[in-house]
Order: sequence, then C-alpha cells, then structure tokens
Amino acid sequence: VRILAIESSCDDTSASVCIDGRIASNYVANQKVHEQYGGVVPELASRAHMQNIVPVVDVALKQAGISLQEIDAIAFTQSPGLIGSLLVGAQFAKSLALALSKPLIAVHHMQAHVLANLIEENRPSFPFLCLTVSGGHTQIVLARSPLELEVIGETIDDAAGEAFDKSAKLLGLPYPGGPLVDKNAQLGNPLAFKFAEPQIPELNFSFSGLKTSVLYFLQAKQKEDEKFIENNLNDLCASVQHTIIQILLKKLKKAVAQTGVKNVCIAGGVSANSGLRNALQEAGKKYGWKTFIPPFQYCTDNAGMIAITAYYKYKAGKFSELDVSPTARAEWN
Ligand code: ATP
Ligand code: FE
Repeated sequence: VRILAIESSCDDTSASVCIDGRIASNYVANQKVHEQYGGVVPELASRAHMQNIVPVVDVALKQAGISLQEIDAIAFTQSPGLIGSLLVGAQFAKSLALALSKPLIAVHHMQAHVLANLIEENRPSFPFLCLTVSGGHTQIVLARSPLELEVIGETIDDAAGEAFDKSAKLLGLPYPGGPLVDKNAQLGNPLAFKFAEPQIPELNFSFSGLKTSVLYFLQAKQKEDEKFIENNLNDLCASVQHTIIQILLKKLKKAVAQTGVKNVCIAGGVSANSGLRNALQEAGKKYGWKTFIPPFQYCTDNAGMIAITAYYKYKAGKFSELDVSPTARAEWN
C-alpha cells in the first residue's frame, strides 16, 4: 500500500510517501518568514503553506519515484495545531482524495509524534512508553499497540519546548532558542546554577515556574553585574537544560515504576536535545531500560510520522469521510 501524507499543523509544510510501512520520502519546507517576529505568526504560516504545498508534494512524490496515480490513500494532520495551517493541508488532502477517488485518512499529530518511533528498523516492541516533548506538548504516553495509545501524564502549563524557548529568550537568544541552549550547554557546567524543580503530583509536569525562577535569578544577578548573562551564558544554558532534563527523567522513571514497561522512547522536537538524548541513554543503562530515539528528521514536525500512522490506520480500516474537519485541539481517538 502506497500512502501520501501531508503535515501542515504549524510552520513546516511537509509531505511524505510511505510504501508498505517504509518511508520512501519525507520532505520538509521550513518557513523562514517567522524569524523576524520571534515566534510563529499564524496568518503568515497559512499563507506560506498555500505557496509551499504543491511543490512540497511534488518533491515527495519524485523522491519516492512514484506518481500521484499510484497512490492508494491520502493522509493529513487533522489536529492539534494552528487552525489556519491545518485547513490548508486538510483542504489539499481532501481535494486530492476526491479527484483521485482514493480513501482519506485523518491523523492526530501527537499520536504521530509517538509512532515516529516505528519508522526505523530498530523499533520498540509493544507495550512501550513514550515521552513526547515538543513545542506545544509534554506527555508520557503508554502505547499498547500502534493505535492503542494512552496519555498517562502531561504538562499542566507550559511545554518542555516552551521552557527551552522562554528561558533562551531571557538569556537574549533568538527564537526558537531550544537548539541554541543545547549548543551553548555543551560548553557549560550543568551544576553551576540551581533552579527549583516543581513538585507536581502523579505523572504530570509543570514548566511555568522554571521560567519565573530563571527570570528572578537573572534580574538579581544582572543588578550586581550587568555582564552576568554574557559572562556565564554557557553555564546558564547548561544549568537550565539540566533542570528541564531532571524534571522529565524523574517522571519517566516514575512511569516505568508504575507500569512496569521498560521499553522507553522519546519523541518531538525537544528529543533532538543532546543532553536529553544522553540522559535517556544513561538512564537506560542504569535502570535496564531499552531506549529508542527517532532520527532527527522524524523528531521535529514531519509528514513521515503522519504517513507511518496512516499506514497503521489503513491496515485497521480507519478511514475518514470527505466532510471531516481539522480542529485546533482534539481528544485522542
Ligand atoms: P506540537 O507538536 O506540540 O504541536 P511543534 O510541532 O511546534 O509542537 P516540534 O517541532 O516538535 O514542536 O518542536 C519544536 C520545539 O523543539 C521548540 O520549542 C524548539 O526550541 C525545541 N527544540 C528543537 N531542537 C532542540 C534542541 N536541540 N534542544 C532543545 N529544544 C529543542
Ligand atoms: Fe509537532
């Protein structure tokens, strides 16, 4: 079965072709237009999706070496995301499905982030736990099978990616700051400064306090020495990153203890963080977990993860009608 998948939930336009469960192409066009605003501007994102979508689908088909007529089903991201962005992908996918008389498959973006772990050969067996850490979400998911996914913990306020980006902003780094914090942290001491870790019940997270704690700390220090940030940037990045990773790993350990599941994956944009990747591998060695991290191109937003999810939905006969609509937020099905 050959599936064409489209992802347009935020500011990346992406298309992928999946042939019998193997990702044959995964092409992503990033939108540069948002950089100057220090964040994603929804209206500009939808306009850029409209410009990008035809050429992006073209490239994905060419790279996979197949034509539109050879496609058996069309998949798209239904939710969650920016509604204007989602609408462009959904409308395009529906038009193609109608024109080609092929079935349509609607995919939940956060389920797809988790199933990105099934793309490569070295994949986790079921059941597995997945810590999904992205720009908008922080979740611990228990996966019993490809389509039986349960959120067993999540953030009550900011996402881990936001904690990275907001701290980076306080440190004077441009948006999105996560990757820059990672880079600077590699040259710094993670134990140089201490930031309070929140005490949140169950398997849930909170990151809004960290941002405030970093803000007050920097304000006090800058009062004494106006070059404090400049002179301590690497240590500050390393310490903020260390705190975020500790918060994440503590709950992951708790989730393993509660469920007895020792196959542990991470997913989402923040799983590109080198500190988190190392910490997960070390935890794996220390506690006897089998750990899995998707290749970088399947961590951040990409249509490959939508395609692999659609492949499992296709096999289970889970198709959508042409009147299906995208939604900014949605429960898991
Ligand atoms: P969602 O999936 O929740 O809707 P999103 O798709 O916008 O959100 P992703 O693209 O998965 O989010 O991830 C983007 C986030 O990942 C940003 O906050 C970014 O700063 C962060 N990020 C990317 N690389 C790194 C890194 N190396 N270290 C830390 N954070 C990173
Ligand atoms: Fe995402």
